[in-house]
Amino acid sequence: MNDKIQAIRGMNDILPDEGHWWDYFEETINDWLDAYGYRRIRLPIVEQTALFKRSIGEVTDIVEKEMYTFVDHLNGESLTLRPEGTASCVRAVLQHNLLYPGPLRLSYTGPMFRHERPQKGRYRQFHQVGVEALGFEGPDVDAEQIAMAARLWKKLGLRDVRLEINSLGDAASRARHRGKLVRHFEEHMESLDEDAKRRLHSNPLRILDSKNPSMREIVENAPKLYDDLDPDSASHFEGLKAVLEQLGIGYEINPRLVRGLDYYNRTVFEWVTDRLGAQGTVCAGGRYDGLVSQIGGKPTPACGFAIGIERILALIQEDHQDISPKRTDIYVVHQGEVASGFAVIAAEYLRDNGFSVILHCGGGSFKSQMKKADASGARFSAIIGDEEAQSRQLTVKPLREELGQFRMHPEEAVAWLRSQSN
Ligand code: ATP
Ligand code: MG
Repeated sequence: MNDKIQAIRGMNDILPDEGHWWDYFEETINDWLDAYGYRRIRLPIVEQTALFKRSIGEVTDIVEKEMYTFVDHLNGESLTLRPEGTASCVRAVLQHNLLYPGPLRLSYTGPMFRHERPQKGRYRQFHQVGVEALGFEGPDVDAEQIAMAARLWKKLGLRDVRLEINSLGDAASRARHRGKLVRHFEEHMESLDEDAKRRLHSNPLRILDSKNPSMREIVENAPKLYDDLDPDSASHFEGLKAVLEQLGIGYEINPRLVRGLDYYNRTVFEWVTDRLGAQGTVCAGGRYDGLVSQIGGKPTPACGFAIGIERILALIQEDHQDISPKRTDIYVVHQGEVASGFAVIAAEYLRDNGFSVILHCGGGSFKSQMKKADASGARFSAIIGDEEAQSRQLTVKPLREELGQFRMHPEEAVAWLRSQSN
């Protein structure tokens, strides 16, 4: 019997060998967010269930079957692990009255939770970085966010990520379209799958989002919301396209792009790649002018998107990009009581001066310590034996280059190591 406790299916450990990819991504996005003036917000991982039901919509994949919802037995509240960040972000903005001084740009990053069938690029705990611009009517902000994503792909050296856009219009245009959609699907009842039949009258728009290949044709032939746009949404969409063209950002209009959450209106967009199989959407977002008031705030236009970090990292790895782990600068080996005492002080001194240092722990011969120094990937070793300890010196030895070795006082070592750093 195997009673070892294992991680939950679809919830992955990110092991040290992969950690530097995440570091690289996080450092890159911080600079990128600053370049567009997005301030960070950190949000709880658990919220009241009602928040997600009300914002994402009752008849959506997420709310119907993907949420981790549970009762807090200490007080009977229904809680949910967040499946996405927008709802929490808007909740926090309203709770703390952050819109009072005017429009704002916010960004969050972290784990999201959805009970889906785990497969490559689809996990039960996954990570997103999201941005939200609140209080902007657009379409300039919609376009800026798209340009922002394009800049990130460039920064990350990603090829083959293409942009699809669509407009969902306003509530009235969606209602007009809805009638036509229901009629279309009713005429093809025999081709609808169970999900589609169930949604036919509760949320027919969602049927367009079906991933079932046998529904493909009927979805392709469905009436397009795009043809029913109200004049304001149509000119908003024209405005968006004009800015994209000015910026030289290529796009494709996908009339079936509806997104899996109810709060979107007008602009919706996805960045898609063909290189990750079925899980090809790496970034998705759009406008959600109704959400703030739906959660209890004053009507406030807003626009945002979220990037799936695992999928982006998969793309970077697919490209065989060489993101090297950060190397330790110095591995300190030492032997003997006096030497060990001095080694602790010398290591701290090197760290004071900005170097990363592994101080050997656990004793052993110089030979075995030097093997560990080599294996650590450090660029230099600093050796402290009896002689060095007596004269308060270090013998610094490059581990990757044939440069000989040098005995120096710690201050000299710092100067010399700095001279080697470029
Ligand atoms: P999909 O159609 O792939 O299910 P979605 O429409 O449910 O995606 P969003 O809610 O828009 O996805 O989330 C934004 C991005 O987060 C997606 O484009 C994707 O990159 C990523 N993402 C969503 N769900 C998962 C998941 N279960 N595992 C990994 N990444 C995910
Ligand atoms: Mg989904």
